[in-house]
Amino acid sequence: MKPWIESLLSLQSLDMELRGIETKIATFPSEKARITAEAKESEANVTAVRSELQNLQMKIKSVEGKAAAAQEEVQKLRIQSGSIKKTNEYQAMMSVIKSKEEEQSALETEALTMMDGVEPLKAKLQSAEKQHAVVVKNLREEVAELKEYAETLKQKYKETLSLRQAHEQNISQSTLEIYKKLIADKKGEALVPVVDGVSCGFCRLKLTPQTINNAKRGDITLCDNCSRMIYCPDQP
Ligand SMILES: [Zn+2]
Repeated sequence: MKPWIESLLSLQSLDMELRGIETKIATFPSEKARITAEAKESEANVTAVRSELQNLQMKIKSVEGKAAAAQEEVQKLRIQSGSIKKTNEYQAMMSVIKSKEEEQSALETEALTMMDGVEPLKAKLQSAEKQHAVVVKNLREEVAELKEYAETLKQKYKETLSLRQAHEQNISQSTLEIYKKLIADKKGEALVPVVDGVSCGFCRLKLTPQTINNAKRGDITLCDNCSRMIYCPDQP
């Protein structure tokens, strides 16, 4: 193989590495977004359970308040009943007191029933908080790993870039220009081998004998169909 072909192949392989690094780096923003979303979701779960518990506690307080008011009312009515002389008025008062007492009792029962739900919710909150802590810890580790990986990739990119420059010096400017144009479409390699002695290694179509001859001589040769640069890999 002509030296320019060997140099261009080395250059191309470095460029493919660079492209791979760029692709990986390009995924970082979406990785970060995913991590942020996961953290938010986990936090939202804790918040939901916490407000569920707070709502229940508020409801209990409100029902307890109503029960206390009913009890107060009962006491007030009892005192009033002491000064009632007429039997029918007294009986009417007793019936009001009775229904108030029933109301109080019902409210107390309601509060007690609701209180049964407090402990399970507290346990649920505790477990949600625990789970959230684990999620946050894991995500922090993931972020740290991602940062480290990004640093490694950046370093690798730099090193690859400088290696690439050394190869560039062995290739003529015109060849480089053709190569750069071809590689810019990001569809694959710019310099491809002739396969089975007759076909382009990129588009797989058969090349003309003239084109194959040019390639065999080590000239800069483009595929008749896809215009990729071709070379004969088994040519001395
Ligand atoms: Zn081709």
